[in-house]
Amino acid sequence: MACRSNTYHRAGEQALTARILNGNEIRELIYADLRKEIAELRALGIQPGLAAVLVGNSPASEMYVSSKVAACAELGLYSEKIAPPETITTDELLTLVERLNRRDEIDGILVQLPLPKQVNSKRILEAVDPAKDVDGFHPVSVGRLVAGQPGLVACTPAGVMEILRRSGIPIEGANVVVMGRSDIVGKPMALLLMHAHATVTICHSKTRDLPDVVRRADIVVAAMGKAGMVQPDWIKPGATVIDVGTNKLTDAGLAATLFANNPKRLEKFREKGWTTVGDVHPDATQVAGAMTPVPGGVGPLTIAMLMSNTVKAARLRRASRPEFSGQPSAAKG
Ligand code: NDP
Repeated sequence: MACRSNTYHRAGEQALTARILNGNEIRELIYADLRKEIAELRALGIQPGLAAVLVGNSPASEMYVSSKVAACAELGLYSEKIAPPETITTDELLTLVERLNRRDEIDGILVQLPLPKQVNSKRILEAVDPAKDVDGFHPVSVGRLVAGQPGLVACTPAGVMEILRRSGIPIEGANVVVMGRSDIVGKPMALLLMHAHATVTICHSKTRDLPDVVRRADIVVAAMGKAGMVQPDWIKPGATVIDVGTNKLTDAGLAATLFANNPKRLEKFREKGWTTVGDVHPDATQVAGAMTPVPGGVGPLTIAMLMSNTVKAARLRRASRPEFSGQPSAAKG
């Protein structure tokens, strides 16, 4: 790290304190909009429904699925948790997904990943009806995203776009650096930003001179899964930093470095033995103009966008049906 003093502004410059982009507050704005849409649908006798398939007993997966089911209950969506045993075969799971595809009261199907080793995950994800693909992982959904057509978009990148838009961060013409090129975050993120007229650079583990590339960005999206890797002096003063990384930190040495300027957080880490951190050093708030915290930044938006996709799927699936005629919002992309 270039800045030994733990302050990151240049000599003669005043330290910036980034505006914190609070994901919980933005989620509540999205939920307020969704509640109106859901009330409109309920008035037509439609209750959007989500089926969550959870294979096995992984505590992390159970926690994610419970949060998704709880969010459905909070918003008045129908939800169903289907929990087949860990030993399920690919064919059995395909049958289960196909049954959900046929049920009209189910608008969204999510298959919680990872699936057990004996199951062919790709075949399962491709078996989900694209009209019900609320995770946005199906090749048809990906193809629509590439082509800029309306459809269901992967929740985390869609959530990042909501953070940027609802926080008034200009995207058009901005230089954006996306760190990470995974199918679920980095790639769809880059496409969404490109469609919003940003100039996008995608970085990955083979990128040369990563800090120099990042320094050119007006907006930085970090999605690598590398605790605190992005240093404050990689950030252009005033840039917007979106930290998608969600890493369980147990390394006391790294915690001491990351929280050197935050004794309360360091104390909490020492009491508990772990904490969740992003990919960006928390002191980047001294340089950035705006930044998402971890936790409480991008995370809350992922579930919010799953809810949004479920409502969107309910509308899109029924858009051509007679009960929707005359409903202007039925054709919403
Ligand atoms: P993946 O492991 O699938 O992808 C990581 C990407 O980061 C890869 O493209 C990889 O490059 C790149 N990368 C890894 N190390 C480096 C490095 N040293 N320099 C540059 N690039 C690097 O992760 P995901 O996309 O699934 O997730 C990324 C992070 O986002 C994780 O922390 C995850 O927990 C978090 N996440 C958070 C969500 C939320 O709701 N907040 C939702 C989803 C994910 P390469 O392709 O070359 O290997």
